Amino acid sequence: MSTDANASTTPAAEPADAPDAALRTRITAEVSALRDSFDAGTTRDIGARLAQLEALRRGLRLEDRRLRAALAQDLGKNRTEAALTEIGVVTQEITHVTTHLKSWLRPERFSMGAMLAPASGELRREPLGTTLIISPWNYPVNLTLVPLIAAIAGGNTVILKPSEVAPATSTALAHLVRTHLDPAWVRVVEGAVEETTILLEQRFDLIFYTGNAAVGRIVARAAAEHLTPTVLELGGKSPVFVDDGVDLAVAARRIVWGKFTNAGQTCIAPDYLMATPRTVRRLVPHLRKAVRALYGSAPERSRDYGRMVNPKHFERVLGLIDDDLVIAGGTQHADRATRYLPPTIMTGVDWDDPVMGEEIFGPVLPILTVDGPDEAIARIREREKPLTAYLFTGRTQIQERFATETSSGSLAVGMTLAHIGTPALPFGGVGESGMGAYHGRAGLEAFTHAKPIARKPLTPDTLRLVYPPYKGAKKAILRRLFG
Ligand code: NAD
Repeated sequence: MSTDANASTTPAAEPADAPDAALRTRITAEVSALRDSFDAGTTRDIGARLAQLEALRRGLRLEDRRLRAALAQDLGKNRTEAALTEIGVVTQEITHVTTHLKSWLRPERFSMGAMLAPASGELRREPLGTTLIISPWNYPVNLTLVPLIAAIAGGNTVILKPSEVAPATSTALAHLVRTHLDPAWVRVVEGAVEETTILLEQRFDLIFYTGNAAVGRIVARAAAEHLTPTVLELGGKSPVFVDDGVDLAVAARRIVWGKFTNAGQTCIAPDYLMATPRTVRRLVPHLRKAVRALYGSAPERSRDYGRMVNPKHFERVLGLIDDDLVIAGGTQHADRATRYLPPTIMTGVDWDDPVMGEEIFGPVLPILTVDGPDEAIARIREREKPLTAYLFTGRTQIQERFATETSSGSLAVGMTLAHIGTPALPFGGVGESGMGAYHGRAGLEAFTHAKPIARKPLTPDTLRLVYPPYKGAKKAILRRLFG
């Protein structure tokens, strides 16, 4: 990884921009090797795509230990959670995609309509070309390799840029790709802003970015230079509304699990909770009990509880905790040395409090009171569109109102996080939480162009009807048909 320090310590005899130039040359060469390979048709054959996906499956099996060790090092992720939310998800996605790929790629035939007869139409999914996948640190295996599966399935060549914020996992992913996948299909460029900036100067046929919206804007701006399409998987504050009259013990467990998995560093974690004052009073003991049930009375000793990824994020989230409002956890239990932040719940939070000013992305759950579903809906509507909205209610009309009156990447009723566990549903945001979607078939659609192919025999020449000059019977017919 090159740093600015390299530039300042460059010997006077060398041009000041030497490291940068060498890096640019290397990255440009990687991209053009993949473009040449795409142009040579390497990735076109469906059998070859399936073979790469099987190679990835084999690689995951053989590198399982290495990947798990890296996830533990970067995020304190334990073995079961690594299987459940990272490596297992990728394997499941490979199975789903390889099972259905041939049928998804079968050209769809459609009628061209009576006006164009005789003619036939088909829709074919063609690869886009050379693509770039930029991934974040919070689920670094899942969020790098699930898009990669879609890219390979679509017949593209791929540059992967894992996050430097999870450095051990970035190295493990680079090793996995270099050892088990064909460099004619996939290459890894590790690094941070400098490397990504050079990558973004290159021309790609799709950029698939997962991360925060500020960098999302940088990616979109760079992509516009080449008119490159983008899929932007961003974040935001995903709300939870708990309606009066639901089973609070179950709701509390599901909310606590969704919030504190990966120490709250989940893009679709419930960010803040809304309920009426009466429900908040009754819910709080259940939330406390759920934290103890999942992580014990000393979560710092639980093997199932993660750590903040780095000191910067530790300090940021620590600063959002107001100990006067804390009813579980709090700053006095935090440990800077191990980047441990306890599962923290705050009540009596105000809409203007700092914790409501940004996506929390850490183990802090603010609870705000509302006077019912009307206010909850209004509060969601006045903020940016979230990645997910969560609802716990027994009333179908309230479900319907949330579905139609709020906009979010997805709406999950009666659960948190688990709705993205199926490759059958597209996953993506809307508005400030992103654009485009993937997982399963949606991933294939994101990484291909749906190309209509229209065919018409030269005889009979029925198109003669639309050629000028327009007069007599021809004019009358066309006017009658088209007004
Ligand atoms: P991050 O810091 O790892 O950044 C993401 C990627 O952007 C990295 O690969 C990084 O190298 C690159 N990057 C950073 N700065 C850059 C710059 N100036 N120019 C070009 N590239 C740059 O991850 P993050 O952004 O902290 O991730 C957390 C955010 O991502 C949260 O907002 C979260 O909600 C969101 N997220 C969304 C999803 C989703 O699927 N929608 C999944 C995970 C995370």
